[in-house]
Amino acid sequence: MGRLEGKVAIVTGSNRGIGKGIAIAFAKEGCKVVVSNYKKDSEGEKAVNEIEKLGSNAIFVKADVSKGNDMKDLVKKAVEKFGKLDIMVNNAGILVSGSVKELTEKDWDRQMSVNLKGAFFGTKYAVEQMVKQGKGGRIINISSIAGLVGFPGISAYCASKGGITELTREVALDCAKDGITVNAINPGVIVTDMTKGMLEDKATLKNFLENTPVGRVGKPEDIGNAAVFLALDESSFITGHNLVVDGGWTAR
Ligand code: NAD
Repeated sequence: MGRLEGKVAIVTGSNRGIGKGIAIAFAKEGCKVVVSNYKKDSEGEKAVNEIEKLGSNAIFVKADVSKGNDMKDLVKKAVEKFGKLDIMVNNAGILVSGSVKELTEKDWDRQMSVNLKGAFFGTKYAVEQMVKQGKGGRIINISSIAGLVGFPGISAYCASKGGITELTREVALDCAKDGITVNAINPGVIVTDMTKGMLEDKATLKNFLENTPVGRVGKPEDIGNAAVFLALDESSFITGHNLVVDGGWTAR
């Protein structure tokens, strides 16, 4: 029996990358998964099919995390289909490059509306549902090591992830008595579409590898495994934590 048998999870931005890695890791443990993205395309359909091939259940729901009504509807559709919501993973994110000297107000707002406002909406509507159910729950926010230490040239991204770090701690306190744990995962460099361009550049890849003591970049499964750990019933005493999964980058 899977360690998440009988549970229902929503993972935002789970058509590909880290989100898909989490969705697949959950499904391998018997969890039913709502795959979501801001647009419906073959990637989302493929993720649902892969989960079903693993013997679990999945549906795709279109939702833009920066829109409150979409997020409210996402939770509603998950409950309509699977009867409840146990785990919410706020994973969807974008990286708007630029130092504070270069970024425009528009860049700043776009970065914040997806990464930080998206995590807020996902948390808000999931918590509302979990409190109504009265059996606790799990909120897992995908932050970044860029939410803990500075990285030059990505000011708004770092600020958005720092915001998620603090949102995680605060909501953990608000929801502790409801049995809802709220944690973040702070990945280091993971191979996905977000980092593809950087990893194709030999000098950047060399720099990433030199900064990662375990000597490799991460895979979406590395984050999926960490998310399973935080989602387990046995993890009920872990809340308000930022779990660094970075191959040792920030340990130096
Ligand atoms: P990715 O670009 O492959 O995936 C991001 C996902 O978010 C995609 O599915 C995308 O369609 C979705 N998305 C974007 N805007 C959205 C919106 N408005 N509404 C709904 N979905 C939206 O990148 P990834 O690396 O898999 O990133 C996943 C998360 O991990 C992000 O929050 C990212 O900041 C974080 N992260 C990534 C790395 C890395 O090295 N790849 C490191 C640290 C943190």
